[in-house]
Amino acid sequence: MSSPLYTPLSDQFIVPTNKDIEAKLRPDGDGKITYLCGNSLGLSSKRSIAMVKEELDAWSTRAVLGHFFHPYGRPWTEVCDELTPTLAELVGAKEKEVACMGTLTNNLHLMMDSFYKPTPERFKILCEARAFPSDQYAFASQVMAHGLDPSTAILEISPRQGEYVLREEDILETIAREGSSIALVLFSGVQYYTGQWFPMQKITAKAKEQGCICGWDLAHGIGNVPMSLHDWNVDFAVWCTYKYLNSSPGGIAGLFIHEKWNEIERPKFAGWWGHELATRFDMPPTFSPVVGAQGFQQSNPSALALAALLGSLQIFKEVGMMGPLRERSLQLTAALEKLLKNSKYFLPLSEIPKEYPQSSEPRFTIITPSNPSMRGAQLSLLFLPVGSGTMKRIFNILSNYGVVGDEREPDVIRLTPIPLYNTLKDCEQGAFYLDKSFETLLTK
Ligand SMILES: *Cc1c(COP(=O)(O)O)cnc(C)c1O
Repeated sequence: MSSPLYTPLSDQFIVPTNKDIEAKLRPDGDGKITYLCGNSLGLSSKRSIAMVKEELDAWSTRAVLGHFFHPYGRPWTEVCDELTPTLAELVGAKEKEVACMGTLTNNLHLMMDSFYKPTPERFKILCEARAFPSDQYAFASQVMAHGLDPSTAILEISPRQGEYVLREEDILETIAREGSSIALVLFSGVQYYTGQWFPMQKITAKAKEQGCICGWDLAHGIGNVPMSLHDWNVDFAVWCTYKYLNSSPGGIAGLFIHEKWNEIERPKFAGWWGHELATRFDMPPTFSPVVGAQGFQQSNPSALALAALLGSLQIFKEVGMMGPLRERSLQLTAALEKLLKNSKYFLPLSEIPKEYPQSSEPRFTIITPSNPSMRGAQLSLLFLPVGSGTMKRIFNILSNYGVVGDEREPDVIRLTPIPLYNTLKDCEQGAFYLDKSFETLLTK
């Protein structure tokens, strides 16, 4: 990567055309869309598509024999072995601390079942207010499964009045103050709505200091920001792979369990894929788990899902993993931020009056932290006046201009340049068509 803002990798990914997505305001139908939504679903790569086709071929030509005798050298019984080292590197873990399995919310439940052990004194879960809904539902249902009331057992930290992101000092102070009643501290590494990257190491250290278990949801963290889960002494983490890791919709997920738990935590909800490999296929009647995270595997994984992930992870390896990617990500996101801030429709967050009349002209601001060390690739744009429907109207026009971000009700559009396949031109087009969308809206 000689010039950090140019990547020859764009052509390894398949970008839909304006015609594909029916972008009505873009007459150049065959042109590629501007995809700034890899935070939600990564693009397909040619490699993933080819590897999935290979698996279909293996299935057709070898059938059950493909488990051990595979035409492309990836026998289904062992295919995870190709993925776990790369996943471990992405989260900063040892290979045995990582398992490639299941789905994110399933894994979250599994990990909470093992690690959330409330007692009368220590029973709370500390999380961010407005966590991703699936996580909120998981927290509430776990708490209720222990006979507790979510309104007392779930402790949420909210941004201060008039602010959008959490302050580090508020999080650390809450852990210090409430620590003795907290069983589990569980945040997302990167917040899905605001794009804030939480100070993971400091939060983990504070939680451990207070004797709490500390887990992380890395749905928006893995493949986006560098992490060192092992060194940070994180207890467990879960993630999905279809966002920054481009593994296809609903792709296989993963989890991390720190090796310090190897002696203590045994899987409670065991399945045959967690049984040690040497005797797994002897079908012994007694469960003897693999040591470490892989002991928590339950079912034999989908070969198609693994192939799709493997294709993308090979590209990660070729570009040198998170070091170069984060560097490029910092540049792309800074470039997009600068372009957006130059828009005549942009208002700095600090200049938005408390009472912002509903009759005001439509504008936008950015609620993602401006400090690059407090964010990943994503920028969250808040549309004003809040609650006026401006966001939805702009979003629809923007999509018709062939720019795909994603909307989050009520007022946010997330735009994310992905260092693996987005370019500076994508950032320029995103900002350009956002302005055009405002113009189109105002001339209606
Ligand atoms: C994307 C995302 C999910 C989605 O959960 P699935 O189980 O993969 O459907 C859950 N939590 C967070 C924080 C997410 O960003």
